[in-house]
Amino acid sequence: MFFLVWGSRGRNKEIGAGEFYCPDCDDHRGYKKIAVTRWFTLYWIPIFPMGKPVGEYVECGTCKSTFNERVLSMDPKAAAEKFEAAFSIAAKRVMFKMALADGEIDQSEIDTITQAFANIAKREIDPADIAAELEAAKDDPRPVADYLREVAPGMNDTGKELVLRSAIAVAKADGHIDDSEIAEMHDLAFALDLPKAYANGIFMEEGVTQITKRAA
Ligand SMILES: [Zn+2]
Repeated sequence: MFFLVWGSRGRNKEIGAGEFYCPDCDDHRGYKKIAVTRWFTLYWIPIFPMGKPVGEYVECGTCKSTFNERVLSMDPKAAAEKFEAAFSIAAKRVMFKMALADGEIDQSEIDTITQAFANIAKREIDPADIAAELEAAKDDPRPVADYLREVAPGMNDTGKELVLRSAIAVAKADGHIDDSEIAEMHDLAFALDLPKAYANGIFMEEGVTQITKRAA
């Protein structure tokens, strides 16, 4: 008796490579993109490919984990870095504009900003940055609330509270809070999308009086 033993099996072929964010390594790594093609086999020997690749996957060069190719479009680390940069720009601009709200800025306000920025961004503000930020804030016609509106969706309530309390601290640094500063702070709370009761609690604790009317 003679049996013709035929069948098929998958063969892998590298069709691309590059760098990606590996979820298993939680860092950027090299990857290989692999295409799987079914091959016709005769006596278990691949003879020819049967049509198009049946699948593609991405393999991490370090941990060898394999992923759907959609992994290549995900990069939470880069997204986090981008958010942090936007957040730190927003926090700085908000505090400097707050300090400028009453038309003048003094050393106590600068000291408060320096301290607040260290609390928020968990790093020191470069002293050379202060002068530049001050000038930039003076020339910037954008309302501070705009900056916060952009970053607020990525922040939790604790982060929002920290930003609001920092802005209040800056406003209080020169010893008094005027109406323009109070209005500004209410706009900030609104832009941060802090729950109203939560924001009012902070204002009460900080001794910031209520204003009843707010521009829509
Ligand atoms: Zn990996």
